[in-house]
Amino acid sequence: MASEIVTSIPLTSLPRLSQGKVRDLFSLPNGEIPTLLFVTSDRISAYDVILKNGIPTKGSILTLLSAKWFDVLSSRVPGLKHHFLHLGPPSVSGLVTQDEKNMLRGRSMTVRRLKIFPIEAIVRGYVTGSAWAEYEKTQTIHDLPQPAGLKRCERLPQPIYTPSTKAELGDKDINISPDEARKIVGDKYASRLEELALSCYKAGAAYAEERGIIIADTKFEFGLDEETDEIYLVDEVLTPDSSRFWSKADYQVGREQDSFDKQMLRNWLTDNGLKGKEGVEMPPDVVESTKGRYTDVFERLTGNSLEEALKGLE
Ligand code: ATP
Ligand code: MG
Repeated sequence: MASEIVTSIPLTSLPRLSQGKVRDLFSLPNGEIPTLLFVTSDRISAYDVILKNGIPTKGSILTLLSAKWFDVLSSRVPGLKHHFLHLGPPSVSGLVTQDEKNMLRGRSMTVRRLKIFPIEAIVRGYVTGSAWAEYEKTQTIHDLPQPAGLKRCERLPQPIYTPSTKAELGDKDINISPDEARKIVGDKYASRLEELALSCYKAGAAYAEERGIIIADTKFEFGLDEETDEIYLVDEVLTPDSSRFWSKADYQVGREQDSFDKQMLRNWLTDNGLKGKEGVEMPPDVVESTKGRYTDVFERLTGNSLEEALKGLE
């Protein structure tokens, strides 16, 4: 049910492969290609810590928004392959129970199971966050020299590829240069990954801007099909969790921008001295306003209400 908050995924019919900050991955029976069930919970993290309670419908919002992006990007990025196969588990009878099916509706997708490249393919169109901190010190971003005189949150002359390491749960990702990323993923794949990340960002940012949202930066992940040696876009795509979304109407260069989605939560945590603390429970007004922001982003980017998008899903 859409209004129930699902912070842990009650699914026992399939073997659980892993649990991340927001998602649980489940193994699916072998078919023609290796697949897995990619399930998004309503968990939310801020300042690298998972909050005790979740945001109702967040799992569906992230799942259906990513599905929309796979569709949009496939038609706008030549040669792009992605892991998304279909929403929900495969329709094999007896695979999951009816209760599990109801719980998974809208928040799960069947994807190709791939070997994930161990870097975060970050693309930045604007200078903010850790990139701004580095630029202020050395006029570089991930060691790449930048033009003088950029202001806080200013749009970069062109989007840049600024990868980071992909840390284990609980560790921090480290910003690296494209050269260091090349050493991690190997010469064979490095340039194509960079090219794909930049193309996906450019196509996505243009699409979002037409809908009043600036994508300041984002993180993509890519995987390899070792059988065919082909690269696939994987994970969630251009969601408020993996990207910095700003409101175009409120954007002003030279100052910090409010992030579209988590600003109320972040402000509440800092105002109450709870930043970075474990096990914190959000009060109902913070939950409601955060839910409102995620919903707003979803509606602007998909042109559809969540209720409408959930209708007709098996
Ligand atoms: P964060 O997103 O903040 O880095 P996380 O990495 O813990 O947190 P989740 O989003 O909770 O991630 O879980 C998703 C996991 O699934 C990631 O480890 C991601 O690399 C992995 N993944 C995504 N797509 C695929 C795929 N097609 N095949 C195999 N693993 C995948
Ligand atoms: Mg993730």
